[in-house]
Amino acid sequence: MKQQINLSEEWFYAATDPLIVIDDKGKIIQVNQAWEKACLKYNLSKEWTGIGSDYFQLSRQSGNQNEIRALLAVLNKEQFTVETKQHFPAKTGDYISLSFEAIPINFDASFPDYALLLQKPTSIHSVQAISAESVLESMTEGFFLIDHQFTLFYLNDVAERIVRCRREDVIGRNLWESFPSAKSIRPLYEGYELALKDKVEVEVETFFESLDTWFRVKAYPLAIGGLAVYFQDIGKQKQAEITLTQYAYFDDLTGLPNRRNLIQEGLSFKGQEKPFSMYFINLDNLKLINTLHDYNTGNQILKMVAEKLRAMAGEQHKVGRRDGDNFIYLRCEPDYANSSQFAEKILAVFEQPFKLGNFKTIKVTASIGIAHFPHDAETLDQLVANAETAMLEAKKLKGSSYAIFNPSINEKRTRRLLIEEELTKDLHESGFHFALQPQIDGNSGQLIGAEILSRWAHPVLGELSPLEFIEVAEQAGTIIPLTYHLLTEVFKKMKEWESRYGRHIKTAVNMTPSLLSCPTFFDILTEMMEQYGILPEWIEIEITEQAEMTYSEQTLENLLRCKANGISIAIDDFGTGFSMISYLTQFPVNKIKIDKCFVQEIGKCRKTEAVLKSLIHLAKSIECELIAEGVERPEEIDFLKNNGCTVYQGYLFDKPLTIEEFETKYLQENYQFSIEY
Ligand code: C2E
Ligand code: CA
Ligand code: CA
Repeated sequence: MKQQINLSEEWFYAATDPLIVIDDKGKIIQVNQAWEKACLKYNLSKEWTGIGSDYFQLSRQSGNQNEIRALLAVLNKEQFTVETKQHFPAKTGDYISLSFEAIPINFDASFPDYALLLQKPTSIHSVQAISAESVLESMTEGFFLIDHQFTLFYLNDVAERIVRCRREDVIGRNLWESFPSAKSIRPLYEGYELALKDKVEVEVETFFESLDTWFRVKAYPLAIGGLAVYFQDIGKQKQAEITLTQYAYFDDLTGLPNRRNLIQEGLSFKGQEKPFSMYFINLDNLKLINTLHDYNTGNQILKMVAEKLRAMAGEQHKVGRRDGDNFIYLRCEPDYANSSQFAEKILAVFEQPFKLGNFKTIKVTASIGIAHFPHDAETLDQLVANAETAMLEAKKLKGSSYAIFNPSINEKRTRRLLIEEELTKDLHESGFHFALQPQIDGNSGQLIGAEILSRWAHPVLGELSPLEFIEVAEQAGTIIPLTYHLLTEVFKKMKEWESRYGRHIKTAVNMTPSLLSCPTFFDILTEMMEQYGILPEWIEIEITEQAEMTYSEQTLENLLRCKANGISIAIDDFGTGFSMISYLTQFPVNKIKIDKCFVQEIGKCRKTEAVLKSLIHLAKSIECELIAEGVERPEEIDFLKNNGCTVYQGYLFDKPLTIEEFETKYLQENYQFSIEY
């Protein structure tokens, strides 16, 4: 038999912990002052403090069956002390939950056995938290309390609003009866069961069809039994997450897998250990479409291309948008045997012009590079790089074309990378310098200007043509520092000539589209001119006719500012581009440089001569200065002079000269040609 505790009455009444003594029938024998105070504080009815009240009955009415059983176990001496958790109905209609420890006691030997209910101070704390209605009501989360049988005994305002019910309709009722549709949500139901059974916290994110939104539900087991449940509408957040995933793995515009997704697809193709081909597809003229029409049109084209490729790929193959105007198409293929055939099939997508709204049709061409795994690459990165290299090779052919990767293409790529890398280093140390080619006045035979041409003795590759490295620099974005470096060198030389020979040579500098479309171009140029004391009339800017430049507002602004500042603007290689007339009307042009391909045909082709004549006539009519490039033969001068073009640049006079050669011949010796044609 268990030991019993004897208590003195003095101690009992003076105790600061709330105490209740009940007999084996559950009748309240004694309560102390602390319990009376607690009842007042929690707004419990007087019955809970009344001597002679039936504690068991009161408990039963409040749904505390388990607690009664626990108390009986103590009273029957089956157990020595138990902890009971009990909810008490407050007069406000809410429930207060309190924890008690039940201890068998004996006031004195003549008394029958009683149980002393000692309210545990720790639980007062948690009870206070729960009963702090204001806190619960101001919560932004929905909150409710259920007992272990899923009877709802508390629900806050937010919960009422979210689940669209009224408190009075659901309190005291079974949760699943009130919300039958929720029971069918298995993760939720199972989560509650688990939280109750194992007394663990459970968090579930689930979609509520009846409310058409996502909820995050957290269930915490209560010390008194049952659960405290917090829930939050996370529909918006979930939507954002879904969009984010969509954004992270799919291209916004076309809905095709994006670069990241393509990497995963590529890896999974690779993982299957079956040979496959990668088709790197580039739209040749998207930039032009964007400039000639607008971005919207470009986007429409991208979407239509994506749609066609997607239809082609079906379930079997994979297609995605890598970036900008590049698509990647993956297809299982034992070898290259039918890659060509398949490339033709892809190109067939581009055969017909794309029909846009408003009866607009646009012709798009594409270049495809094909690389094969494992034949051409060991890694996915290498495969993409090789397919891209092959694509660039295909691009050199006119119109829609394809190229299959081969290692010699890779040599070109390595070369290109070597150039690219060296361009990022100190240009002076890299062997970068320039040459000057004189421009001669056909009437006086004297020098009237010079063109600066870049030269580069590459540390590894040796002497390089500017045709090669300028293009690389332009594409790699290093043309800007390269040109500023060149200008600095030239400006220093010009100042030197000024002080040494008292002369200024008007110098022409070639500018690429990326430089001209750079927003800081003009400011940097004028700042440098100021720094070295260079006047605008000593400078000429040469621009080439390039598709990308048409209609670029930034370019136009830069050129207008140059011209307004007194810097001359010349159109290089005039006649070779496709838009020469629009160029003349679009841009502020001072000078036209007739391309050498026309000059070379003088005396050989009547048709070209006729074109040349009309070009010269056109320039004169709009008061443009003229210069002929690539003049090699005396008869060319003859023709040009007779038709009114009197300024020349070409091997007939001089090849591009080193600075020293130029300085000696034209500044020291003041060389003059005798032109008698
Ligand atoms: P470009 O601006 O048309 O320069 C003229 C090119 O024609 C030069 O080639 C020059 O050496 C060559 N040339 C001059 N006279 C004759 C001739 O009588 N016959 C023949 N057959 N050719 C002649 P280069 O120096 O190889 O430059 C090639 C191109 O590289 C230049 O063509 C220009 O577009 C570009 N380039 C050169 N330096 C620079 C630079 O610093 N910046 C930029 N953006 N481009 C440059
Ligand atoms: Ca030029
Ligand atoms: Ca030229």
